[in-house]
Amino acid sequence: MKAHHTFRPIAVAPLQTRGSPWLHQQRMNLSNGKANTNSARSVEIPMEAAQHTTPTPALPPHSLLPTKALLRSSLVAAVSSHPFLLNPSLSILTFLSGQTSRLLSLEKNPILYALFKKTMYNHFCAGENGKEVGATIKGLKDMGYSGVILTYAREVVMDHSTQEGSGVGAQLIKDGTADVPAQTQDIFDADIEAWREGVFETAGLIGENDFLALKFTGAGAVVADALQADKPFPKQMMAALEEVCEKAISQKASILVDAEQQFVQKAIDRVAIDLMKKYNRDGKTVVYNTYQAYLKATPDVLYKHMKQAADEGFAIGVKLVRGAYINSEPRHLINDSKEGTDDQYNSIASALLNGQYRDMGEDQPLPLPKFQLFMGTHNKESVLKANELQRKRAEQGLCVRPVRYGQLLGMADEVSCTLLLLKAQTQGAPMFVSPEAYKCLSWGTLGDCVSYLMRRAKENKDAVSRTKQEYIALRREVWRRFIKYL
Ligand SMILES: Cc1cc2nc3c(=O)[nH]c(=O)nc-3n(C[C@H](O)[C@H](O)[C@H](O)COP(=O)(O)OP(=O)(O)OC[C@H]3O[C@@H](n4cnc5c(N)ncnc54)[C@H](O)[C@@H]3O)c2cc1C
Repeated sequence: MKAHHTFRPIAVAPLQTRGSPWLHQQRMNLSNGKANTNSARSVEIPMEAAQHTTPTPALPPHSLLPTKALLRSSLVAAVSSHPFLLNPSLSILTFLSGQTSRLLSLEKNPILYALFKKTMYNHFCAGENGKEVGATIKGLKDMGYSGVILTYAREVVMDHSTQEGSGVGAQLIKDGTADVPAQTQDIFDADIEAWREGVFETAGLIGENDFLALKFTGAGAVVADALQADKPFPKQMMAALEEVCEKAISQKASILVDAEQQFVQKAIDRVAIDLMKKYNRDGKTVVYNTYQAYLKATPDVLYKHMKQAADEGFAIGVKLVRGAYINSEPRHLINDSKEGTDDQYNSIASALLNGQYRDMGEDQPLPLPKFQLFMGTHNKESVLKANELQRKRAEQGLCVRPVRYGQLLGMADEVSCTLLLLKAQTQGAPMFVSPEAYKCLSWGTLGDCVSYLMRRAKENKDAVSRTKQEYIALRREVWRRFIKYL
């Protein structure tokens, strides 16, 4: 949609004076030294202002990290970026995670507990209870994050080639002994109940602008088996799902349905679409489904879902990720190369931001449904490309849709902090040009989080070159911050 005038109304979020003094300084610079403390309002600014929003940060992205987090990140990055440190650390972690004795259990031995909690756990996880999680969320919002994605750490991961899994319910799926009750059957399953309690509590810990992440296989074998067989959830799970969604919505939060492995994904898509049909009404997008760009089939699946949304009049929430299960999925389903996945990710993102998906959109035969885009990625190029596209569209007076970006806690801080800088530097720019940065947090007891942590550690292993770059940048920031004391 072309703007026919040089001035257009924009929404300006209140400038926050709390949090990082440096971030505040960036905002002061942008408002000619006058900190604006008004609440959200609509003002008119010249379009030319939007043309000068590309950042020229005076300080590096990691300068936004509080010193404690900076030092902990440096330690974790030092280990992750050096295979001779990472490999033995992973072996030790694998060994300890299976121990139950008082001497060797991470949870029972107070020295191991304290060591693990203060390093790996605090780096990657939000907390073991509401108080710890609340403090983590507050710290992130004070830094300038728009919100958080919170997830409960229990999970099951199946290896397609070996049919082996870890976490809740894996053994029963493997054995094929999990019973799949019909939806009408009244059953009581302890794993579903544990999931309901955990996720309900999680929904109670978040608020406006936050997201609740739902991982269905975390509800155990009965649910995972129902997904695998593409059968309806048991009644108990349907009730639990409705309860946690209503809770999140009552907290003014939204819901992200995680994508998992292919043997359960078709059914996850079906449940996610049902939730969208129910909750994404009247133009609101409360529920998002996840689309994995590494799958060759994803552009078609997304097209089908978008068309259904347009035909049936509900809004579609699109969480776009590359995909986490490359090591356990059938290889032929995945793009042949990393470049193929990168291209697919970036082209889906730009098609959506340009408001044209195949034959849907402006000047196309079919209408585009209402949609919202959430980009879950650590890839700086993808993030900057999308942000640049937004900026260009604003510059040209074209319709700019909101886009949110998320990175996992403890990972890709350079990307997250770059987004925070861009946000600080584009306060006052036309609507939605300021990127909204989110951190994705897992919470739960140390025991609950161990398999999650193992996956994070292994992911770092797979991304050694990026971890190395992150380590170098962190080390430079430590040096910059402490040189004055030498
Ligand atoms: C907020 C958030 C939410 C997430 N939610 C989910 C989720 O619900 N489900 C899920 O599956 N994942 C999820 N992920 C993980 C995500 O899918 C990626 O595994 C991870 O973010 C790494 O990809 P990247 O986009 O950050 O970029 P990069 O690190 O640049 O890309 C790595 C990814 O590229 C792909 N890739 C690597 N090598 C090849 C190759 N040879 N051929 C083809 N493709 C290749 C893989 O997908 C790999 O994970 C989430 C990530 C984030 C940050």
